[in-house]
Amino acid sequence: MNGKRVGIIGGSIAGCAAAIVLRRAGCDVTVFERSAGALRDRGHGVSFPVEVRNELEAEGLIDARAPAQFIAERYWFARDGDAPLGRLLWRQSMHGASHNWGMLWANLRDRLDGADYRDGLPVTGIEPGADAVTLRLGDGTAERFDVVLGADGYQSMARAFVDPAATPHHAGYVLWRGGYPITEVPEPIPDALRHQSSSVVYSGGHGVMMLIPAPHPPGLRVYWAVYHRTAQSLSPGLGAVTGDRLHGLDDLLTDHFPPYWREIIARTERNTTLVHPVVDVRMSQYAAQRIALIGDAATVVRPHAGSGAVKAVQDALALGRLHREHRDWDTVLAAYDAERRPAGNALVDLGERIGQAQVTSTPSWTTMTPGDFDAWMRSILAGGRLYLYDLEK
Ligand SMILES: Cc1cc2nc3c(=O)[nH]c(=O)nc-3n(C[C@H](O)[C@H](O)[C@H](O)COP(=O)(O)OP(=O)(O)OC[C@H]3O[C@@H](n4cnc5c(N)ncnc54)[C@H](O)[C@@H]3O)c2cc1C
Repeated sequence: MNGKRVGIIGGSIAGCAAAIVLRRAGCDVTVFERSAGALRDRGHGVSFPVEVRNELEAEGLIDARAPAQFIAERYWFARDGDAPLGRLLWRQSMHGASHNWGMLWANLRDRLDGADYRDGLPVTGIEPGADAVTLRLGDGTAERFDVVLGADGYQSMARAFVDPAATPHHAGYVLWRGGYPITEVPEPIPDALRHQSSSVVYSGGHGVMMLIPAPHPPGLRVYWAVYHRTAQSLSPGLGAVTGDRLHGLDDLLTDHFPPYWREIIARTERNTTLVHPVVDVRMSQYAAQRIALIGDAATVVRPHAGSGAVKAVQDALALGRLHREHRDWDTVLAAYDAERRPAGNALVDLGERIGQAQVTSTPSWTTMTPGDFDAWMRSILAGGRLYLYDLEK
């Protein structure tokens, strides 16, 4: 093997997963994470296909006892006068397991056995060389690595060294997200929320509501996400919302949501509600100059595809497997690019198809029969293999 020193920029899901697998493969791994302490606020719910959950357990990346909400159906509702839940349009079978983002990260972080995880230390510069990559660090020092992984998220600085032409493309809609403990959920809690995932659909968007595990206090939380078409441009950053943007959410809840689901979302503490534009990033390379990208630093997939965290972990698993198979970094990175770039770009395509069908070019939902829904979903998922509702299985 031509070099064991691996530097990883970013210690979130992708960075931790990669550190675990490469450490197990015998590399000397150093992770630089600019945030200090535990990462908690990158997300709420993360839904995996059950098969992916089983794969993570088998690979020793997640504890078999790690809590999940197993969901077998998604209910699709539309507003119907004052009917509390609205009109049930379709019951879609699924095989999902919902996790808490923070608990998933903590599971990975706990497994970094032997890796050097330096939190509160940003990477400020990347200098590729002939046989090594130098990372400049926030404390004024610099370190050399045989290979560097950019696991630095959707606004990656490493991406510019691998594929300078890759830029975010705005999808034409925004995503609002929020959540809170189940004890705040209006009673009685319907089966559609307690045991299933539910969506409210309307012309120009939809909302998704479900329960996810909670760490403190242990139990469950409600998690919701609303995708809404907008001509309004938003800055690319993510964050808690300000007053004007909250009015936008209030208005769309009043206009489109049945009373119970409106109340579920309205009970969210306003200063914890997040909104951000939905973007696509496609890639023409995943690795160059001994720098490889993983997770959101590589392709950025729309959240509908249920694959941000899943893709991050699968990128890391592929890197670990290819390292075991080939051991020479040039070959490993070329094989990684050949395997994961098409997979990442295919997920971007899938996310785009879902977004067009469910947000920017919505059908006449209320006139559709369950058979119409089934055919419509099949056409959206054509070729989609990682998605929760893969119909090929
Ligand atoms: C605010 C927010 C909310 C989200 N909510 C959800 C959700 O509810 N459900 C869901 O499924 N997904 C959600 N996501 C997406 C999900 O978090 C990612 O898809 C998933 O975490 C992929 O992980 P990643 O490690 O590739 O990237 P990220 O989780 O974005 O991690 C990148 C890491 O790199 C670090 N970093 C960046 N630059 C540097 C640098 N120069 N030096 C050192 N460290 C650096 C960052 O601090 C961060 O920890 C959300 C993302 C964000 C940002």
